[in-house]
Amino acid sequence: MAQLIDGKAISAQIKEEVKEKVAALKEQGCEVTLAVIQVGADPASSVYVRNKKKACEYVGVRSLAYELPEETTEEKLLELIREMNDRTDVNGILVQLPLPKHIDEEKVLDAISPLKDVDGFHPQNVGALCIGKPGFVSCTPAGVIQLLKRSGIEIAGKECVVVGRSNIVGKPMALLLLRENGTVTVAHSRTKDLKEVTKRADILVVAVGRPKMITADYVKEGAVVIDVGIHRNEQNKLCGDVDFDSVEPVCSAITPVPGGVGPMTIAMLMNNCLESVSLQAIRG
Ligand code: NDP
Repeated sequence: MAQLIDGKAISAQIKEEVKEKVAALKEQGCEVTLAVIQVGADPASSVYVRNKKKACEYVGVRSLAYELPEETTEEKLLELIREMNDRTDVNGILVQLPLPKHIDEEKVLDAISPLKDVDGFHPQNVGALCIGKPGFVSCTPAGVIQLLKRSGIEIAGKECVVVGRSNIVGKPMALLLLRENGTVTVAHSRTKDLKEVTKRADILVVAVGRPKMITADYVKEGAVVIDVGIHRNEQNKLCGDVDFDSVEPVCSAITPVPGGVGPMTIAMLMNNCLESVSLQAIRG
């Protein structure tokens, strides 16, 4: 039986650690504050925003909610971001994606001060990750590293294959595994003979956005398999990019969906809110 990597338990542990540190900062007179900006009322986004606010409450981070109407102009949104950038009592800024079509997402994300970019999407933070400088790291891949480390899985020297090269998951994931001294390969939709590549992996991280695409024949016996994907089927059941039932018998450890990578993303967001205080002290 493969080891089940328990994202629920590990994320709870991280939130407890963050909670303690946030309380200690509060005692020193610093109230960690996150501004959460949502434009429009996309139901999925509203659920994510609600969960982020709940997590803030739990760990003691003050959250400021800005719920702007769908027709908000790009200029109005940029104005609010500039205001948040300037406010010394705001440590982190999060703009919930996706934004309405009339707003240029890239322009908005680039407008967030890199010192307050708790999602880790700003080019300056991506660059910092690339050259090993302090900065915010995208929450989902940062969560995967915590899952591995806290489950006692060694990364250094291992063959790591990341399937997917998106800016928010695949690419930062590859950089983080490299930072941990893994030997990293990134596969994508143009990769020839994907199975041959994934079968080399000691650690296989899958972020393709295709339900149950990775079956046992993509996995080396004894590999560690991390499933970043989240999909909801017609029966309202969640599944990942990995076909859990077929892969679990061949691997040594695996993340379930739900209860694997999913809960880590918000825990790492809370951790980034906490880190914003020290990053602002170093670079601000
Ligand atoms: P994207 O759609 O942005 O990227 C998917 C990547 O997979 C692309 O790089 C694409 O390649 C590659 N890909 C697609 N099809 C294939 C294929 N047949 N073979 C090989 N590679 C392929 O997705 P994201 O990175 O944003 O998300 C990936 C998954 O993770 C989704 O299921 C998403 O819901 C989930 N997710 C979960 C989070 C969490 O908190 N747990 C957070 C973020 C995402 P190419 O670049 O060539 O097009």
